[in-house]
Amino acid sequence: MVRIDGLHKSFGHLEVVKGVDLDVHKGEVVVIFGRSGSGKSTVLRCVNFIEDPTLGSIEVAGIRLEGGHRTRHKRDQIRKLRLHVGMVFQQFNLFPNMTVLDNVTCAARCAKRGSDAEIAQRAKDLLDRVGLADKAGEHPIRLSGGQQQRVAIARALCMQPDVMLFDEPTSALDPELTGEVLGVMRTLATEMHMTMMVVTHEMGFAREVADRMAFFHEGRILEQGPPSEIIGSPEHAETRAFLDAVL
Ligand code: ADP
Ligand code: MG
Repeated sequence: MVRIDGLHKSFGHLEVVKGVDLDVHKGEVVVIFGRSGSGKSTVLRCVNFIEDPTLGSIEVAGIRLEGGHRTRHKRDQIRKLRLHVGMVFQQFNLFPNMTVLDNVTCAARCAKRGSDAEIAQRAKDLLDRVGLADKAGEHPIRLSGGQQQRVAIARALCMQPDVMLFDEPTSALDPELTGEVLGVMRTLATEMHMTMMVVTHEMGFAREVADRMAFFHEGRILEQGPPSEIIGSPEHAETRAFLDAVL
C-alpha cells in the first residue's frame, strides 16, 4: 500500500532523513518510534507530500512519485495520491466555528467523496464508531481533547483513505484521555483492517496492535521487526536505551 524507497530529505544544508526504505502492506500497522528530531514526522509528511522528498520515491496505492521539484503533472499526481491518505496530527486542528458534523464532512464534501447525503450518513456512522454520535451538533470547544482527537480521526476517515498516518496522536492529551484515542485506533486496526503508520511512544499500544515496529535514529531506520523482538530483545544499544527511557 505504501512504498518508501531511498527517501532523503534536507532542509537547507541539514539532512534530516538519510535514506529510509519502508514498505507497508495492506492492512498492516507499522509503529514508528525514536528520539525527538530523528526524522519521524518528516518521513510521515513526505508520504503525502506535505514535504517534498529531496531524493527517493514514494508510492501509495499504486501512485508512484519521485522527489524533487514540482511540475504541473506532479502537482496533479500529488492531489491524486492524497485522496488515498488520511492524516491525524498531535494538534487536532478542528475548525472552531463549525459543528462536529461539519468538521467531519467538510473536506469530503469539497473533494466530492460521494453525494452530500452519502457523506452525511458516513459521517454519522463514523461519529458513532468513535463514540461521539451524541456530539454531532456540538462545537469543538465544548469537547475534551480526547473527544476532539476522535473527531479528527472521523474526519480523516470520512475521506475514505486507504492508509492512515498518525503523528503522535496522543502526545498533546492529558494521560487519562489517551486511552480513548488509542482504543479508537485499535478498533480501526483490528475491526476495519486499516493500513496504518503510527508515530507513537505508547509501547502498550505498539505491543498489542503493531505488526511491525521501526526504530528511527538520526534520520535512518536503525532496526525494525515485530514488537515482540523490538521491545523484547532489541539488537542495538540505541534502541535499548530509548526503550529503557520510555517503558
Ligand atoms: P521527529 O518527528 O522525529 O521529532 P522531525 O522529522 O520533526 O523529527 O525533525 C527532524 C529534524 O528536522 C529536526 O532537527 C527538525 O528541527 C528539522 N526540521 C523539521 N522540519 C523542518 C523545517 N520545516 N525546516 C527546517 N528544519 C526542520
Ligand atoms: Mg515528530
